[in-house]
Amino acid sequence: MILGRCAACKSQRKRCPSDCVFSPYFPPDNPERFASVQKIYGASKVEKMLQELPPHLRAHAADVLCFEAQCRIQDPVYGCVGIISQLHQQIQDAERQLAMTQAQLAIYNSNNIIVQQLSQIPQIEENASNFNILGQFQNGPFTQAP
Ligand SMILES: [Zn+2]
Repeated sequence: MILGRCAACKSQRKRCPSDCVFSPYFPPDNPERFASVQKIYGASKVEKMLQELPPHLRAHAADVLCFEAQCRIQDPVYGCVGIISQLHQQIQDAERQLAMTQAQLAIYNSNNIIVQQLSQIPQIEENASNFNILGQFQNGPFTQAP
C-alpha cells in the first residue's frame, strides 16, 4: 500500500503525481466521496471538469459534484432535483399556511374592531346623556307643545 495517494488515484490504481487535480478534493481517508463521483460521472470527466475550472472554484465544484452524485445514487430517477422539488413543495406549503394564518388574523382583527365599536356604543349613549344632548332634544323646543 502506497501512502499519500489521493482517493482517485488509489481507486484507479495509479501513481498520484504532486500536481494531481483530484488530490486536494478527494483525500485518501474518504474513498466513498470519489467512488460516488466516479460512479456517476466517470473519473476522466471529473478530471476534465476540474482542470477546466480556475483553481479557486475547484473545491466548490468537487463538493457539488459529490453532492449531486450521492443524490443520484440515492434517487436514480430524480437525483438532486427530487430534493429541490421536495423543498419547493415545502416552501409552497409554508406560503399557503402563512396566507391562511394572515387571513385568519385579518378576520380576527376585523372582528375585534367590530366588537370594540359595539362595546363603545353604550358609552356613546351614556356620554351623550351625561352631556344632556339627548335631554336637550327631549325637552327642547321641538318637543314643547304650542
Ligand atoms: Zn491523485
